[in-house]
Amino acid sequence: MLDLSHLPIVDHHAHPLLKPEASGTVVKFQRWFSESTDPIIHAQHVPHNLFFRTGLRWLAELLSCEPTIEAFLAARAQQDYTAWCQRLFKDTNIATLILDYGYTAPEVYSHAEHLTMLPCKVERMLRVEVLAQDLIVQYKTFDQMLEAYVDIVSRARANGYVALKSIIAYRTGLDIVPVAYADAAAAFMPLKEQAQRTGKVRLASKPLCDYLVNLALQEAANQALPFQFHTGFGDRDADLRVANPLHLRGVIEHYPKVPLVLLHAGWPFYRELAHFAAIYANVWLDLSLAIPFATTGIPPMIRDVLGMAPFSKVMFATDAFTMPEIFWLAARWGRWGLGKVLEEFVAENFLSHDDAYAAAAAILGENARQLYWSV
Ligand SMILES: [Zn+2]
Repeated sequence: MLDLSHLPIVDHHAHPLLKPEASGTVVKFQRWFSESTDPIIHAQHVPHNLFFRTGLRWLAELLSCEPTIEAFLAARAQQDYTAWCQRLFKDTNIATLILDYGYTAPEVYSHAEHLTMLPCKVERMLRVEVLAQDLIVQYKTFDQMLEAYVDIVSRARANGYVALKSIIAYRTGLDIVPVAYADAAAAFMPLKEQAQRTGKVRLASKPLCDYLVNLALQEAANQALPFQFHTGFGDRDADLRVANPLHLRGVIEHYPKVPLVLLHAGWPFYRELAHFAAIYANVWLDLSLAIPFATTGIPPMIRDVLGMAPFSKVMFATDAFTMPEIFWLAARWGRWGLGKVLEEFVAENFLSHDDAYAAAAAILGENARQLYWSV
């Protein structure tokens, strides 16, 4: 078996940890093993999904307790939480994290807290829709809002962000088209009224979403800043019919200078995405979320992706969030799936042992290191 445990990971797509109270009870712990937002799924069905059941077995082995949720949570509660986070992170051998703080909760740890808590480098990406929502609340007119938006996005790299990120797949879909200023301005008005009434706003207007993402793509081109797009599955907000990465063809062709990182392998559309990564120099394929959630589907996905896309274009990440266990489990499933497939490639005499090992090093960390820090 190819042992990939000492190859460091650059986890280029993940989310912040939450304080332990967000995962201290049975249902609160279980809910993070599902993309569902439905409490019935969390309470009744997660205990029967493979990701959870296997995760519980592996985690119980770590704490030498019975593989029941009650026994594990009792053993977990005995741990100092920071020490527990550090133990799991050291074991994952994650060298660098790039966090998206755009998905948030009241119990979230701040960036400064992550820097002191975790035994790895922690960097940030900027989620453009969340930024835009804040600015719509803050500014009176569309022009003022736009000026602030462009100002912040244009200085993203200078201000320490290593990537931009869009969740437009969740809002209005990946079929992003050019939009005239007047159409975007007209779409701003009802949102501003909503913001004035309620103090917050959810950006889900297609002309405005498309207009703002196009602006951000231009600013990314000026800074050679990688741009992450959510593609494929997610929670119930993601309509898979418009989350297929094939919809991004126009963007890919229109912004050849922007390194586009298409997230979650576009799952289940990973073959489509592997083809894009093979033919477009500006497309990278990320494996996160599909690892770990696809579990037994991880090796078939990696086999198909690596059969088509150059190894230099494929990147592992966890898309983990909330609690350190998810990072640890994603790293374990990822190394297992990648090791299993590359070992097959060696057994079939497709690759030498050294080739396979170099591919693993690239996918787990080297490709991301080059993309985010050497473009
Ligand atoms: Zn994510």
